[in-house]
Amino acid sequence: MCHLTVVGQSKAEARAILHRLKGKGIENLLALGGDPPQGMADWQPHEDGFQHAIELVREAVAVGGFSVGVAGFPEVHPRAESRPSDMKFLKEKVEAGAAVVITQLFFDNDDYYRFVEDLRKLGVRAPIVPGVLPILSAPQVRRFTALCGAKIPARLERELAKVEHDDEAAIEMGIEYATRQCAELIKFGISGLHFYSLNKSYSVKAICKNLGL
Ligand SMILES: Cc1cc2nc3c(=O)[nH]c(=O)nc-3n(C[C@H](O)[C@H](O)[C@H](O)COP(=O)(O)OP(=O)(O)OC[C@H]3O[C@@H](n4cnc5c(N)ncnc54)[C@H](O)[C@@H]3O)c2cc1C
Repeated sequence: MCHLTVVGQSKAEARAILHRLKGKGIENLLALGGDPPQGMADWQPHEDGFQHAIELVREAVAVGGFSVGVAGFPEVHPRAESRPSDMKFLKEKVEAGAAVVITQLFFDNDDYYRFVEDLRKLGVRAPIVPGVLPILSAPQVRRFTALCGAKIPARLERELAKVEHDDEAAIEMGIEYATRQCAELIKFGISGLHFYSLNKSYSVKAICKNLGL
């Protein structure tokens, strides 16, 4: 699945990419706002670019031939005005043609369950695929959660404190934590799992093996 963001490119560039993807037979697309480019503290729209991911969804639908996914934030997007407004904009992305929502990482499944429940109440029927981060190190989790607005629950904080300076132990702890998290999610009833593998397959393979997948 190609991740395409609106940040740092004009509308014409985004359109050209969509046409090239279609020409190459790419069918699955995750339409995203995008993180600020490295070194930039804040998100600035391109002066002739799209402002929000929904515009990219609409553009992809207009080009045609894509199954489009969008991002959802169980703990609310950091730049959102409020939880209700964030959920309203997500609903609009689905109504604009997104077939699936993939969530930002979270470490407390209750946040995901509440998110799904509230979206269903709003009439969102698309699958809401949970995003799971297999922890690779304590500093990494602190950096990621600060960036994306997810919280570190107290029980995870206690586990992290034990592996603060030991990345190998952090990876093993991360595999155990994510395995438990995924097992509960599967019991709840999900249509898939999204792993933030960060191009490292070791933990994801171990988690899938633990889960018998
Ligand atoms: C599964 C997943 C994969 C990701 N992969 C990448 C990646 O590969 N590369 C990368 O750079 N980033 C990636 N991200 C991060 C993502 O790009 C950022 O979190 C980004 O800040 C938000 O993206 P979005 O698609 O939700 O943006 P948007 O939908 O544009 O939302 C951004 C903010 O604007 C608000 N908003 C939305 N629509 C409107 C509107 N019409 N009017 C006013 N406000 C509005 C929302 O409430 C939210 O606060 C990923 C995130 C997820 C969940």
